[in-house]
Amino acid sequence: MVKRKKTGTLIVLSGPSGAGKGTICNELLKQVDTLSLSISMTTRSPRGNEADGKDYYFVTKEQFEEDIKKGNFLEYAKVHGDNYYGTPKKKVEESLASGKDIILEIDIQGALEVKEKMEEGIFIFIMPPSMRELKDRLVKRNTESKDKIIERFKNAYKEINEVTKYNYIVINDEVQNAVDKVKAIILAEKCRVDRIEDFELNNEEELLHELLTL
Ligand code: 5GP
Repeated sequence: MVKRKKTGTLIVLSGPSGAGKGTICNELLKQVDTLSLSISMTTRSPRGNEADGKDYYFVTKEQFEEDIKKGNFLEYAKVHGDNYYGTPKKKVEESLASGKDIILEIDIQGALEVKEKMEEGIFIFIMPPSMRELKDRLVKRNTESKDKIIERFKNAYKEINEVTKYNYIVINDEVQNAVDKVKAIILAEKCRVDRIEDFELNNEEELLHELLTL
């Protein structure tokens, strides 16, 4: 019998804005019921029907900076301008300790910070099929001003160079295709020898005796 390690698996989905990591993450959560999401904290205002505690914990800059001081974040960064985004440390640590898998959907600066601290995580880079497609998606989603779109697009060109620091790359050509690939990665990772704690073998002499007395 193979005894697996009791700790959960940390999965980090990351990639440039417009690559579709949010959509992939939501689909994964619907399709894999053993997976839980790390809800980030942010100082940006809620959009549309976003809810506090579900999409993000929406807080003021003062509250966020207080949490930085207290060391409550696994990572945090200023993303696309002046807003803070951060991963609360407690939920991640509790999930992993109790054997639950947890997924983080965060930007590239944050993902690399987590990698420094938790090498054993699975770091997946979500890549758009082409930069033209990324540009079109940023325009179509209609959530940012033209200036913001240009800023995100320029950032994306720089960020793509960080891909070599990740363990896996998934091209988001079609959502279900990409989701299937992420599921396959998680499954394969769970079979890794270094995620096994021990073997429990039956008693060799007893089995040999059974063989000899056939
Ligand atoms: P949005 O404002 O569109 O929800 O998110 C903007 C960016 O912030 C996205 O690239 C998203 O992945 C990233 N993000 C969300 N939560 C976190 C977090 O906790 N930490 C970091 N570093 N990035 C985050």
